[in-house]
Amino acid sequence: MLRDAIRTIPDYPKPGIQFRDITTLLGDARAFRAAVDQLVQPWAGQRIDKVAGIEARGFILGGAIAHQLSAGFIPVRKKGKLPHETVRLAYSLEYGVDEMEVHRDAVRPGERVILVDDLIATGGTATAAIGLLRAIGAEVLAACFVIDLPELGGAARIATLGVPVRTLVEFEGH
Ligand code: AMP
Repeated sequence: MLRDAIRTIPDYPKPGIQFRDITTLLGDARAFRAAVDQLVQPWAGQRIDKVAGIEARGFILGGAIAHQLSAGFIPVRKKGKLPHETVRLAYSLEYGVDEMEVHRDAVRPGERVILVDDLIATGGTATAAIGLLRAIGAEVLAACFVIDLPELGGAARIATLGVPVRTLVEFEGH
């Protein structure tokens, strides 16, 4: 059911990429709720201090998950968007590099944080986000995604960092 709610756009944003579009899932009340419920479920009854979401689709899912867990929310943003003092980390994209940031005071030392994004591909984005969260003192309990593209190896890469990965739907290919 979640899988059916995700739309695939061939050759977007460039030839060869199958873009997994979650706007259709977000627009479907039952699917949106089911995705959030399934991502929240492992944490029921556990103390989660904060949910960190990766800009921009991770904000939508992460905000809903944080609310459900009675946790705070931390935005992990592209560089230059956060107004207060930040820590910044470069990460590689398919072509070139980019940088992301969090506010230096977004967690207190040892706070228990879960990371959320819509999709994990190579894992480069999530690796950088975990690095930032650890740099500001967070204990990163898990990284959670609606979609996994296992052929790109991202979930395995995150697991090697000692962070358990949870995903809901797998798609073949890129
Ligand atoms: P990566 O750093 O390679 O794991 O890429 C993950 C980030 O890129 C996530 O924020 C995704 O939203 C986006 N992304 C990568 N590949 C796709 C895809 N095939 N469809 C939709 N979003 C993607």
